[in-house]
Amino acid sequence: MADIIQLLPDHVANQIAAGEVVQRPASVVKELLENAIDADASTIKLIIKDAGKTLIQVIDDGKGMSTTDARLSFERHATSKISTADDLFQLHTKGFRGEALASIAAIAHVELKTRQEQDDVGNVITIEGSNIVSQEVVVTPKGTSVSVKNLFFNIPARRNFLKSNTVELRHVIDEFHRVALAHPDISFVLYNNGSESFNLPVSNYRQRIVNIFGNKTNEKLVPVEEDTEVLKISGFVGKPEFAKKTRGEQYFFVNNRFIKSAYLNHAITSAFDGLLKNGTHPSYFLNLTVDPQTIDINIHPTKTEIKFDDEHTLYALLRSAVKHSLGQFNIAPVLDFERDPSLDTPYDYKNNVADTPKIEIDRSFNPFQEETQPKTTGTSTYKKEPVANWESLYVGLESKGTKTQQDFSEVHFESEESTPSIFDDEKQIETANTTYQLHNKYIVSTIKSGMLVIDQHRAHQRILYEELLKNMTIKEAVSQQLLFPLQLHLSTQEITIIKELKGDLENTGFVFSSIDDESLEVTGVPVSVPESEVPIILEQLISDVENEVPDSNFSATDLLAKSMAKSLAIKTGQSLQKDEQEHLVNKLFACKEPNISPTNRSTFITLSVDELDKKFI
Ligand code: ADP
Ligand code: MG
Repeated sequence: MADIIQLLPDHVANQIAAGEVVQRPASVVKELLENAIDADASTIKLIIKDAGKTLIQVIDDGKGMSTTDARLSFERHATSKISTADDLFQLHTKGFRGEALASIAAIAHVELKTRQEQDDVGNVITIEGSNIVSQEVVVTPKGTSVSVKNLFFNIPARRNFLKSNTVELRHVIDEFHRVALAHPDISFVLYNNGSESFNLPVSNYRQRIVNIFGNKTNEKLVPVEEDTEVLKISGFVGKPEFAKKTRGEQYFFVNNRFIKSAYLNHAITSAFDGLLKNGTHPSYFLNLTVDPQTIDINIHPTKTEIKFDDEHTLYALLRSAVKHSLGQFNIAPVLDFERDPSLDTPYDYKNNVADTPKIEIDRSFNPFQEETQPKTTGTSTYKKEPVANWESLYVGLESKGTKTQQDFSEVHFESEESTPSIFDDEKQIETANTTYQLHNKYIVSTIKSGMLVIDQHRAHQRILYEELLKNMTIKEAVSQQLLFPLQLHLSTQEITIIKELKGDLENTGFVFSSIDDESLEVTGVPVSVPESEVPIILEQLISDVENEVPDSNFSATDLLAKSMAKSLAIKTGQSLQKDEQEHLVNKLFACKEPNISPTNRSTFITLSVDELDKKFI
C-alpha cells in the first residue's frame, strides 16, 4: 500500500495550534499584553471594538523588533525568549512557546507595526490567515503595535461560538485586570469602543488595586507581607466583613504571572476560618515570589496553572502569613462586637437613611376608584397582611383581580410533552383544604392518580421567571418609587455589567437616576422587590453574569429573569399559609413549563396510588 502519512502544511498546523492558544478575544488580549511586557514597555494601550470581535489592538513603547525579527515573529516556535530546554526553568518572561503570534495570524487579519529605538523607520507587516499580504517600511513610534481584526474570520464555527459582547468583554476586562495587577510599574490604558474605560498610571500596588476596583476598595485592604527563604509574599487580603458572595476578586500571582490554584486558595480561606459569613469568599491580591527553578509553568497551554515543587510548605506559609495579618490588624473574632454593623453589608449604606422612620404615602390612592389599576407608581412597599403580601409577588401577571381558579382554567398548554397532564380532570386542582406543607419545603397535594409533591422554592422560581420574562418583553413592568434614593457603591467592573443590563433591568421596573464609574442611584424598583433586597439582587445578578456557563444561546434578558427569580423566590424553610400554598400550586400550573425550574430542575414529582400500594405490600 502507498505511504499515507504527510506533514501538515504550516497554515493548517498553525490553525490547529490556534485552537489551543486562542479560545476567545480575551486570549488574544492576554498574549499581546504579555508580549508588550516582555518587550519592557512602560506604557501599554489596549484598544477593543465589539468586545474584541472586530478589533483588538495593543500598542507598546517597548524595544520593538528588527526587520527580520518582525517577519520571523509570525513563524511557529519562533521566540527570542528561550533557546534551550533548561531555559524553561529560568523563565523571567511571560512567553516562551513562540506560538502566540503564529496562532493569532492563522485565524485573523493582523497588522504589526514595529520600530527599534536606534532605527529611523520601522516595518509594517500585514498577514491574513497565515499569508503575508505585505511588508513595508513605515514611519512609526518606537515600540510595537499589533492589530488583530476579524477574529476567526476563516473559522465560522469558532466565530459563531463566541458569546455575547457582554460576556466576551467581561473576559477581556478580566484579562486586562490580571495583567495590570501584576504590573503596577507599567501604565495601562483600555479603550473600549472609542471611550476610555481604564487609565492606570504607574503606581504602588495598593493604588493600582484601588484604580481598578474603585476608591471604596482602599479601606477594605489589609496588607500581607512575609519574606522567607523559599517564598516572598506581598499584597493584600480583603477584610472579612467585605467578603463577597462571588469569587471575583481573588488574585494570585506567582513571579508576576496570574495563576489559579484551588489548593492555595484553600490556604487563604482557612486563614479566614471563623471570620467569614457562610457562603462568602474573601478578596485577595497576593504576589508570591519563588525561585523559577521550583515551579513548572509548562503544564497548561494557557498557563494559568503551575506546579510547585513544595506545595505543602507554600500552603503553610501562606496560611500563617494571612492569619498573622488579620490578627495584627485587629480583625480577630473577639473584637467583632466593636465592629460597626453597617460594615457587614457588602455595599455601603452610609448615605442611606436606613433607620429613619418612613411615612409611606400612596400617591395614587383614590378612595373613589375601584381597585383596577394595573399600572401605578409610588405605591407603598409593604402590605401588612401576609395574604396581600403574597399576592403582591404576582403583581403584573394578571391584569384583573381575577381569582386563581380562573387563572388555571385559562391556561393554554403550549406543548403536551412538556406539560404532562397529571390532572385528568381540571377540577382536581381545586386545592381548597387539600394542600399541606412538609418541612417548610414541599407542598403536598392530592391529585386524581395519587399525590403531588412540589418543591416550593423551585416552583416559585418558575412562576417568577415567566412573569419577569413577560414583563421584560412587553415592557409593562410595574415600578414602585423609593421614598429615598438608594445609593450603591460597586466596583468599576460591576458597574460595567449593570450598565450592559440597564435596559433589561428597567424593563423589570428598576429606575436608575444616575450611574457613574463607581456608584449608582436607584430611585425605583419592581413592585415585587422589597428595597432591602435590592443590593442582594444586584449582587446575585452580577455574580450570575460573571459565572455564566458558556452557552451559545446566552441572552441577557433570560439571565436577568433567572437571576431575579432565584433571588426573589420564597426560600426553603419559609412557612406558607394555606392560601399561599394553594396560590403557588395554581400559579405553577398556569406556567408554560410548570414541570421544570428555570435552571432545569424538577419542580414537582407525582406518586400514584399504585406506587403507594406497592410500598404497602
Ligand atoms: P513568545 O512570546 O512565546 O516568544 P510570540 O509568538 O508571542 O511568542 O512572539 C514571538 C516573538 O516575537 C517574541 O519572542 C518576541 O521576540 C517578538 N515579539 C512579539 N511581540 C513583541 C512586542 N510587542 N515587542 C517586541 N517583540 C515582540
Ligand atoms: Mg508571547
